[in-house]
Amino acid sequence: MRDDFPESIKRVLAARVGYFCSKPDCRALTSGPQKDPSKSVNVGVAAHITAASPGGPRYDPQMSPEERSAPTNGIWLCQNCAKKVDNDPNRFSAEMLIQWKHDAELEVDKRVGKAAVSVAVPAFDVEVAARDIDKALDEMIASEEWLPFQRLATRLIQQRYPDLIASEPKKDRGADARAIVSLAADAQGKVLACSLTASLDKVMRDAKEVRDHFPDVKVLIVATPRRVSNQTAENWSKKLRQSYGFDLVVISREDIVASLSRNPVICKTMLGIPVEIAPDISELIGKVARASCEVTAGWFAHRRLAGQPLVDLRAVELEQGGRTGEVLGSGVIFDELMVGRRVVIEAPAGRGKTTTLIQLAKRIGDSNGLALLIDLPEWAKSGCSLLDFIAGTSPFTRSAIDAGSLARVANIEHLTLLFNGWNELSETAADIAETGLRAVDREFATAGILVATRAHSIRPPFRGALRVALLPLTRGERAGYLRAALGERAQELDLALTENRALDELTSTPFVLREVTKLFSAGRALPTTKMGILQSVVQLLEETTEHHNELRREPLSGNSTAYLSALSLELTARGDVTISETGAR
Ligand SMILES: [Zn+2]
Repeated sequence: MRDDFPESIKRVLAARVGYFCSKPDCRALTSGPQKDPSKSVNVGVAAHITAASPGGPRYDPQMSPEERSAPTNGIWLCQNCAKKVDNDPNRFSAEMLIQWKHDAELEVDKRVGKAAVSVAVPAFDVEVAARDIDKALDEMIASEEWLPFQRLATRLIQQRYPDLIASEPKKDRGADARAIVSLAADAQGKVLACSLTASLDKVMRDAKEVRDHFPDVKVLIVATPRRVSNQTAENWSKKLRQSYGFDLVVISREDIVASLSRNPVICKTMLGIPVEIAPDISELIGKVARASCEVTAGWFAHRRLAGQPLVDLRAVELEQGGRTGEVLGSGVIFDELMVGRRVVIEAPAGRGKTTTLIQLAKRIGDSNGLALLIDLPEWAKSGCSLLDFIAGTSPFTRSAIDAGSLARVANIEHLTLLFNGWNELSETAADIAETGLRAVDREFATAGILVATRAHSIRPPFRGALRVALLPLTRGERAGYLRAALGERAQELDLALTENRALDELTSTPFVLREVTKLFSAGRALPTTKMGILQSVVQLLEETTEHHNELRREPLSGNSTAYLSALSLELTARGDVTISETGAR
């Protein structure tokens, strides 16, 4: 017997997705008017995720008749898609349909009660051809490169299970290592194991390792670029449950291709698949790129950086437990952002956080990427969604780019979001910013996201982020800055700085170096004590008509002397570090 849906459930399923087909690349509207004003037409079907009767597609004998005809087992599709889905249950797994349903409901949920501008935004302007994705995955298997697949699978599966935390594979672990570990919010510990081979043997080995290291894990997710038949997956599942009591989720070729075809950004950035873009969207992307470059130029001009050379700062990776790891150039941060990672830059005042953000934005802009600089306190104050906030800034309003257009571009182009000023947030603003950043983390899953902050008790809410601290300038970097800023006169100042211990130490902070260089250029005598230098800098600041943006903002509230005292305290606090460094050179 068939466990069909009652009429009332059909109506609910349809209404929950706004009468649109739930297949992500279709989204056909399934209801409309008939000639007879008392009638409407319906081309939608409440399809079963697992079949209503034995022998039907995706039939699950474990389910009770009630479960089979419950709304949780239904998905709203147009007639065409319903037919496709039922004719090819191997390609369209129950797991995939549940994901479609979830995505469709989420999309409609975002639109409910909103003006039509967001409705007019198509969910997917671009669909990547399955054969291109297949080819790229085949190449991945052939080259036996495990890391690119691990990154790709992590990215995709995090969209499905947002509670998974990425953990970078250690270099000494081989291709058999697990990729992500999570202590999930639903208390269902999950581990993702990526594998280019995907055999029962491999699955069992992963399971053993997981059980040995993570006793709370209940679900093993195996991702592989190979095809795995339902029968094989069921067989693995059974063995795994018997031996380890784990549930198994297999994400194989079909799933990966389906997710990727809706992810042009991942296809482009992680698989190198060229994605064809319609001319009107290319034009829009060009406009957005120009506006974001204008924003970058504006930051450069307004933050006392105009006309100043930008030093390429080095950073050191902060590992758990306060240890420091490798020294990284800005190239590494750039690369991580381009593959959609989260990065947190920590540094004391004056160490060059803003400069680093501007440099990254410039570099991304120069390589035809899209980077958006965002002042976190300003955004928190605005109470707007991120895209509304960006669309409301002048370079974007001037080009008539609205939030809907930005959303469209974000679906197709890789985006890098650079947030400044986490530590400048007031307590209430910090709550807003935290909630906002969490939403950004979810909604811009493929974007690279960076937050710059002073070391702060509350960390930006990104799990698995790359955390780095900016390093003070070396003498070599300082000399490079001076050459760029002063030309022939550089050597004179460089010598003066090297000969005076206080100056030598203080000018390893880019902000102080910049100001000392200005004093020197203005023909002022260079004070030789720490406080003397700071006071002169303040004086110079107060004489210049255009004050440093930061000086007027919380927590400074115009009190630049206090700011500089704090700066000096911070410099003193890390005195031992500096001395050992100075001693070393
Ligand atoms: Zn459809």
